[in-house]
Amino acid sequence: MTDISLYIHIPFCARRCAYCSFTSFTGRNRQIPEYIEALAREISLTRRPQRSVATIYFGGGTPSLIQPEDIQRLIAEVNRHYCITEGAEITLEANPGTVNPGYLRNIRLAGVNRLSLGAQSLDDRDLGSLGRTHSQSDIYMAIADARGAGFDNISLDFIYGLSRSRPDGWELMLGRIAELSVEHLSLYGLTVEEGTPLAAAVRSGEAAVPDPDAAAAEYEQATEMLKVAGYQQYEISNWARPGRESRHNLVYWRRGEYLGLGVGAHSLLDNQRLSNTADLDDYLAALSHGWMPCVTEDTINTETALAEAVILGLRLNRGVSADDIASWYNIDLFHRFETEINELIGLGLMDISDGRLRLTSRGRLLGNEVFLRFLP
Ligand code: SF4
Repeated sequence: MTDISLYIHIPFCARRCAYCSFTSFTGRNRQIPEYIEALAREISLTRRPQRSVATIYFGGGTPSLIQPEDIQRLIAEVNRHYCITEGAEITLEANPGTVNPGYLRNIRLAGVNRLSLGAQSLDDRDLGSLGRTHSQSDIYMAIADARGAGFDNISLDFIYGLSRSRPDGWELMLGRIAELSVEHLSLYGLTVEEGTPLAAAVRSGEAAVPDPDAAAAEYEQATEMLKVAGYQQYEISNWARPGRESRHNLVYWRRGEYLGLGVGAHSLLDNQRLSNTADLDDYLAALSHGWMPCVTEDTINTETALAEAVILGLRLNRGVSADDIASWYNIDLFHRFETEINELIGLGLMDISDGRLRLTSRGRLLGNEVFLRFLP
């Protein structure tokens, strides 16, 4: 039996955050029951009883807006049509302020064993300007309640590169983040995506354009301080206590197979990239007729698959193994990209050790520019 990972998208949100470019909808919570039915049907339509599921990830949107009974039902549907392995990692993304002790106890009982909280900042002014619905005290409370409910695997997301009211603001926040002592941290730089309220505010001059140098300085500071606090960086944006890396996200970076369920979800299966419609009404209508909601289906050629494997592998601190590339594609990594690798090593963005190609710490700061060099 080969493993497959499942991503289940829950697109509903109480309010749109200023920077959000995800597939999410506000004011449509009345459609949640219909959406749960559609997801259950999609799980049965994609059934693969011969595939074992080692990770399930409920992402959003705000998955914590759905009831524990619905989460339990969806997990049971997955187990009916696939085979969930013993000890599978089951993550649910939650927004602080949308959870309470009873809710957390019930989702734990439903089988969720990893909680990913969208904290984003420990400063109420930042949270306000990002358009988040929670306060810093909600974050502290959600962590305490999750511990009380038996969660021993908690991840927090934070955003760096925000404008600070004092120069040591980020350093002080990092100290407080470390004190929270959770198992996993994800840190993302603020980006201004077209079509978001933040992009409009930047255009009108209401919000400042994020300063890339300040963001880079904050990233470097995080790298140093989290290391001292006992976290290992294992991916460009992710840090974990030993053994607490996100097993689900590692599947993406190792280019493993995953199935995305729900509106706007993407999959990598049988050397094809597939995506579901991002229109909620179309998604619900398709499933109500028993049709698949898939709208794009691209077969990946070897050149593209190789580029993906290198780029995704480089995101990991362990880098990409020449032996793996040789066994998957029958290609000598160092020979195939000799010119690019030599140039990037010369620029101090990459190094090679133990047969693995890795980004240096400077390379991690300029990852996107490095990745461009490996595209077909
Ligand atoms: S909670 Fe997440 S998905 Fe929802 S609006 Fe905010 S950033 Fe977007």
